[in-house]
Amino acid sequence: MSRLTDAALRFRAQLLRQERAAASEMVRAYAATWRRLRAELDQLEQQIAEAEAAGLTVGPFTPRQPGGPVLPQAPGTFSVSWVHRRERLRTLLAQVERELRQFAALASDLTEAGQLQAVQAAQANAQALMTEAARAAGAPELVGMFNRLPTSAVEELVGLASDGSPLRELFEALGERTGRGVREALETAVATGMGPRETARLVRQQFGMGLSRALTIARTEQIRAYREASRRTYEANSDVLDGWVWLSAADSRTCVSCLAMHGSVHGVERRIDSHPNCRCVMVPGVKGAPIEVTPGEELFAQMTPAQQDAKLGKAAGAAYRAGAVKLVDFVGVRRDPDWGDSRYVKSLRQVLGREEAQRWMRKAQQQKTWQVVSKKIGELTDRKAVLSLGELPTRTYQALRHQWPSSVTAQVVLTGERRAHYLERHPEMAAFEGKLMETLFAPDEIHRNKRDSQIGIWYRRLNGSQYIRVVVWVSDTPGLQNSIHSFRLADQREIDQGHKQKRLVWAKK
Ligand SMILES: [Zn+2]
Repeated sequence: MSRLTDAALRFRAQLLRQERAAASEMVRAYAATWRRLRAELDQLEQQIAEAEAAGLTVGPFTPRQPGGPVLPQAPGTFSVSWVHRRERLRTLLAQVERELRQFAALASDLTEAGQLQAVQAAQANAQALMTEAARAAGAPELVGMFNRLPTSAVEELVGLASDGSPLRELFEALGERTGRGVREALETAVATGMGPRETARLVRQQFGMGLSRALTIARTEQIRAYREASRRTYEANSDVLDGWVWLSAADSRTCVSCLAMHGSVHGVERRIDSHPNCRCVMVPGVKGAPIEVTPGEELFAQMTPAQQDAKLGKAAGAAYRAGAVKLVDFVGVRRDPDWGDSRYVKSLRQVLGREEAQRWMRKAQQQKTWQVVSKKIGELTDRKAVLSLGELPTRTYQALRHQWPSSVTAQVVLTGERRAHYLERHPEMAAFEGKLMETLFAPDEIHRNKRDSQIGIWYRRLNGSQYIRVVVWVSDTPGLQNSIHSFRLADQREIDQGHKQKRLVWAKK
């Protein structure tokens, strides 16, 4: 990492720390609100319990027609409207609304304060980064010469959401939506006679969604203000800057879309259009001095298959390793007239289409099964033990039946005795045992043996000139299965020899 990218990551950490401080204040306020509502909710529950103790049960909810008479409640029951009339529910809902309005005001104040701090920090940080970029580019004459933006030029970013509407409105709308969710949850709970614990859980779930959405808005809007202030400062220096480089955290939490963008270069007029909760930063580049950041595509290629799968999923990981997709293929851009462009991670199905995606999913499933059996192979130490490896796929078994018409089963087994044998004769094969299953169940070619008519040889390419070779004794005796005879490596010559002697039984298309 260069000093420039180091500084960019340090500033990013500062920004996130500040954003977390605002977030924890919001969480505290929300928790206090919930405690007050919970107390109110308990009283409602108590009232319902009293009604039940008095012999009433929950009846069907009969809504009153506008202007119509109040329908009498069926004798011995109470309903939502009954609870409404008893004031308790109404009081509770009014309190929910009041609390959410107060919270909206607090959240927008906190976010605004965060935005102000962010744009001020962005201006100072942009100067520091441009200075570092100039030093790295060997252009010390630029140091101290960068244009500064008047604070008023970026303060207009404070208090506004990305579509230019006041933040306050955004949080109020969120509060109203949350209030409706809570109301519906409560009415459902009362109408279906839910127990107090379940009711509280349902209400809390609705209420909690309000907080998580509010936190996302707060974080996204603070980071957006920071980025836009940085970008405007870069733009004010476009005579000496080439643009900016997309720098993601490139860690285990970085999403595929951001990792694919990592290291890409953009003009100063371009906004960094990512996704909510994105933690990426823009590093300025001085003209004629490209910044060296290893592209995300390259970083991804260096990860282990398990790390790749953790990001893409097993099916997409397998497709990626087979060269069917590149990382950048997963970057989706959503165009929204109000929110601007945002990025998301495409599914394998969106990238390759349904059929292809399903093919990779089946493949991933198969590999999982092979891994499980491979593990059992590694534990097969009892010489008398017989391990079933599974059934050959229909397409190879049909070829097998053609060659050996008396073959009675697609099942293949490995005995402890044979495993001990091949490990003794070819100790190097211990390292390749993980490939036995794929050789057997997804071979490149199957040959028949020169001398012994009952023996088939399975080959799967390992690298440029080497193959994994599994020899199977094809059984024609009912009750006996095809049994692995030997396991070792083979070279290209052996394959060519087989072709020359016309021993090919089956080949992958
Ligand atoms: Zn990102």
